[in-house]
Amino acid sequence: MTMTDIAEQARAVLGRLGVADPFDPDGDLVCRSPIDGHEIGRLVSHRPTEVSAAVDRAVVAFEQWRQVPAPVRGRFVRELGELLREHRDDLGTLVTIEAGKIVSEGRGEVQEMIDICDLAVGLSRQLHGLTIATERPGHRMMEQWHPLGVVGVISAFNFPVAVWSWNAALAFVCGDAVVWKPSEKTLLTALACQALAEEAGRRAGAPEGLSAVVLGAREVGEALVDDPRVPLVSATGSTRMGRQVAPRVAARLGRTLLELGGNNAAIVAPSADLDLAVRGIVFSAVGTAGQRCTSLRRVIVHESVKDDLLTRLAAAYESLPIGSPLDPATLVGPLVDEQAWAAFDAAITQATADGGVLVTGGRQAAVDGGGSYVEPAIVDMPDQTEIVRTETFAPLVYVLTYDTLEEAIALHNGVAQGLSSSIFTLDVREAETFLSAVGSDCGIANVNIGPSGAEIGGAFGGEKDTGGGRESGSDAWRNYMRRVTNTVNYSTDLPLAQGVEFA
Ligand code: NAD
Repeated sequence: MTMTDIAEQARAVLGRLGVADPFDPDGDLVCRSPIDGHEIGRLVSHRPTEVSAAVDRAVVAFEQWRQVPAPVRGRFVRELGELLREHRDDLGTLVTIEAGKIVSEGRGEVQEMIDICDLAVGLSRQLHGLTIATERPGHRMMEQWHPLGVVGVISAFNFPVAVWSWNAALAFVCGDAVVWKPSEKTLLTALACQALAEEAGRRAGAPEGLSAVVLGAREVGEALVDDPRVPLVSATGSTRMGRQVAPRVAARLGRTLLELGGNNAAIVAPSADLDLAVRGIVFSAVGTAGQRCTSLRRVIVHESVKDDLLTRLAAAYESLPIGSPLDPATLVGPLVDEQAWAAFDAAITQATADGGVLVTGGRQAAVDGGGSYVEPAIVDMPDQTEIVRTETFAPLVYVLTYDTLEEAIALHNGVAQGLSSSIFTLDVREAETFLSAVGSDCGIANVNIGPSGAEIGGAFGGEKDTGGGRESGSDAWRNYMRRVTNTVNYSTDLPLAQGVEFA
């Protein structure tokens, strides 16, 4: 078999990122690029004993690392951030090759890694607890946050590198070790991140084994999930995966941080700035070919502006450049694989059977050289049927119509998932109602921007079937530490709490 240009490019980039030739022609894991669907090479899965050995090494590394002062741990993450800056374009290109993201989004994903490293370095001097008033004289009560242990990270294909960094950058400054099982669809980017983490570790004097990658499918993830030496499993992927992982970790009383599927909506109110709404909707629904957990899947539009909005959206959709994500002019790259195309096609068939009307798109797009490229689709639905309540991981948006804001919010919240949401309105009452306790039930709620494209400063995650986890900014670092409450008696007496007498 002759190697395609894309495979050659992937191998060259891997070399520049410090990954020694990882391929084995007899390997069971096939690395493919969604750009042309061709094989880049094969890798060998780790056996459960190898996963266990990686955890052994991580435990040893953790035992050293937890004794290093947090601001000194921050130097390791600073080195990682510097290496990511240096290699941003190469790693971004690898994301493009392996996940099919357009160049700008591939680089943007690496920028997000750099941003979380910056945030984590700052945090390394801010891992603070509280001092709490005590009822006992001559006593002091406080809380401390200590390193937790080995963090298992399981990640999805669509953010092949950023999800690891959201977890790892915080975990490292918090004093933890990380064992990462990336998606079996994006193994090369994971190897590249690991090479950069190892180099950062050498520069900063971090212990070996602090960062590890284990490769394979579900069974390899399960080995991490079931290992009692892994106190926290942070798992990003489908709700189906979360339902499998959560009870297994709970059975051994471990913790999970779950970042699962979304079914994100935008309400478009009568007062909306429609130009802004169209731009926000198109980016959110079509960016990353609809393969973000925060991608827009439902537009809930007021009946008075529906026709105008649909006319503008259809025009915008029909002018979208679809093609190889390596071409800088492309805005819509490929779906990850043929199954994703089949799911997109089946969802449109079901939606139209339910009475939906295909407004635009929905077909395979003609792009030379293989890969699963589609014309992003809009389906105007009479109701929020089961298919609308299901996450289809593709550029497919359903349009629902409303009359009152209460009705819009009920439709909005009438799905099992609760990740991200938005409203386009210039009416402050509507905006504030949407953000209030009786508004959106999601972990992320926006006004006059779409639901996708979060920054790392805020906590990221969602409710209900999205799993309830929060990663990235705000106080998400607390997930990676254990809290200890301390009471210190500096008196000569021994008063008991609640007035208890024991003498
Ligand atoms: P997926 O669920 O198929 O796989 C995700 C990861 O879980 C992979 O590494 C996979 O090998 C592993 N896995 C699957 N079953 C497992 C099990 N039983 N035990 C241990 N590991 C297991 O998801 P995907 O197709 O890669 O990604 C798309 C999905 O991820 C979408 O639903 C999307 O919304 C979601 N996602 C969510 C977020 C978020 O932050 N909420 C971010 C990205 C993607």
